[in-house]
Amino acid sequence: MNKSDFEAFLKPIPKAELHLHLEAVITTEGIRKLYKNKFGKDISKEEEDGLFSYEDLNGFIQSFIKIQGMYSSVEDFRIVFDELEKYLSNNGITYSEVFFAPSAFLKMGFKYEDMVKIFHEKVSEIKKKSGITIKLIMDVSRTFGCENAMNNYNLLKANPCPDIIGIGLGGAEAKGPAKDFEPVYKQALKDGYVAVAHAGEDVGPESIWDSINYLHAQRIGHGITAIQDEKLMEELKKSGLPIEICITSNTFTKKVVQQAKDHPVRAFFDRGIQVNINTDDPVFFKTTLLDEFWLCYHDLNFTFEEIKELVKNSFRHSFMTDAEKEAAVKSVEEAWK
Ligand SMILES: [Zn+2]
Repeated sequence: MNKSDFEAFLKPIPKAELHLHLEAVITTEGIRKLYKNKFGKDISKEEEDGLFSYEDLNGFIQSFIKIQGMYSSVEDFRIVFDELEKYLSNNGITYSEVFFAPSAFLKMGFKYEDMVKIFHEKVSEIKKKSGITIKLIMDVSRTFGCENAMNNYNLLKANPCPDIIGIGLGGAEAKGPAKDFEPVYKQALKDGYVAVAHAGEDVGPESIWDSINYLHAQRIGHGITAIQDEKLMEELKKSGLPIEICITSNTFTKKVVQQAKDHPVRAFFDRGIQVNINTDDPVFFKTTLLDEFWLCYHDLNFTFEEIKELVKNSFRHSFMTDAEKEAAVKSVEEAWK
């Protein structure tokens, strides 16, 4: 089957995406709007190209931070949510758990309560307009240390919002070891929030072990360096801890894999480890969720039956209620026919 037939088949099948960063669905069109609002002139071609050229995770994070610096006010999040809605509907995604990272915006003087008010408005508007459910996970950030992460979490707790379900840990993995953030995770889990963590993306399997042992993370983002640790592979299989796989993202940052066909997701799946498929930062990595499933099919030899399992996993591994999961998995089965 060629790519356009494959995508035409897969697009209408209900899907969830569980590892997606809000600020990374903004297209160049959106960036131009932000830039003009902020600086009163058009962004130059060089500056625009510069935003999308990087060779490793840290270079990418620098670009991410530069774009965050182009927001003039919380109102700009409306632009981002509009682009999020377009991205989700173009890929047939009916449910998504989306990271947002408040640290940079708070440092720019934005008020958390104002951000959350707009988030809630937009999430409700999207649900009403296109039926897509969006849940948000706060990336407390490993880049600025535990105290900053705890401050972020305290804002989350002090401003309850039905759309924000818990915390995640993204940013420069090598600079922020998971175990440093144990107090934040302990508190969040105690308070009934969900907790996930990026681990084993840029650092070895020890980072995944720490996220399990110290953070009690309920899903692992990336987790690809687990392939270097036989004992960890066995542990992941036994525990059923879901791994959020982001193939293209990993081939960009080139820590473990240089090309999609060598991605360990094939080995994880064959081993019985629970995996789901995601884009991470679709615009930055020039990918979509449909592209990622195409890589599974075309480069990694997943069969249609196996791809159906991956799509079902995206709901099974979500933080929906059990009844919602059951209904969503059933809807995949029905749409597949
Ligand atoms: Zn990520």
